[in-house]
Amino acid sequence: MKALSVVPLQAGSAALTDMEEPPVGDGPILVETLAVGICGTDIEILSGAYGWSPPGRERLVLGHESLGRVLDAPGDGPIAPGDLVVGIVRRPDPVPCTSCAVLEWDFCRNGQYTERGIKEHDGYLSERYRITPDFVVKVDPQLGTLGVLLEPTSVVAKAWEEVDRIGGRAHWEPRTVLVTGAGPIGLLAALLGVQRNLEVHVLDRMGEGVKPDLVRALGATYHSGRIGDLGFSPDVVIECTGVSSVILDAMTNIGVGGVMCLTGVSSGGHQINFDEGALNRSMVLENVAVVGSVNANRRHYEAAALALAAADREWLSRLITRRVPLAQWTDALTRSDDDVKVIIEVQPEKAVTT
Ligand SMILES: [Zn+2]
Repeated sequence: MKALSVVPLQAGSAALTDMEEPPVGDGPILVETLAVGICGTDIEILSGAYGWSPPGRERLVLGHESLGRVLDAPGDGPIAPGDLVVGIVRRPDPVPCTSCAVLEWDFCRNGQYTERGIKEHDGYLSERYRITPDFVVKVDPQLGTLGVLLEPTSVVAKAWEEVDRIGGRAHWEPRTVLVTGAGPIGLLAALLGVQRNLEVHVLDRMGEGVKPDLVRALGATYHSGRIGDLGFSPDVVIECTGVSSVILDAMTNIGVGGVMCLTGVSSGGHQINFDEGALNRSMVLENVAVVGSVNANRRHYEAAALALAAADREWLSRLITRRVPLAQWTDALTRSDDDVKVIIEVQPEKAVTT
């Protein structure tokens, strides 16, 4: 079967090659991959900046945002042939740490977790893969190819769970949310905010285009200026840019008792002159909470599956701005300002339309 793989940390090593069928030892469920979403992590791996191959192997199969159709599954389980499914990315560490021991691998404490398509475990960008039932999540069949958005949605489902739980430390009646960044993560975070009946605001650099249109189509408000000029102090901030100046701006403008969740990964190395004392003072006097959030466990995938099933499918389909056949995979790596989510269709002839 065909698979797209790289030699991690070696730029230009990506290649679409033939490889053996997935080993039975990978699990009793055989899945035919339909589509794989491409995100910043994949671009980093492809550029040779990130990634680890499985032990004893040179190459790593790419792909962690997957959608597939079950070809074969044990007769007595919850998953049946024909089901549309998404594979979970992270696997608990073998020790396991106290978090992985209770299946909260997204909180792994020793860093020895593995991740399909990223860290020591082949990804989903092959024509077929095998998996065990505990790492596969069913998608509403009505979603069709849109199910490929489940993995990025699981990341924001976790961020929202953190906001809800931290907000619940005291009386909590949030009204406004600011999402910084209108990429796929930001737009999906905004969707979950609208589903919570909050007044959602999204801020990005673009003046016009697909992203502002998608924000407005959600019934949310789009902003492209500075956070200090919004004219209100958000109860919740979901930060999806990783840009230091945006993060500091949001931290200093959040409302009293507000919760801010950081999901964007900064590159580091940029130093900004700012008044840490004033920030500390306002955080203490206003009970502000700032929390970082990464990855997702099974609970978050299941919450994400419900959120996508409840979403407007026409709106979700506009998030997928380009569909590239596997044979033309290099086209998926170049992106324009108007690209939101680019996906690779592994079986373009079997594309599931909604
Ligand atoms: Zn762990």
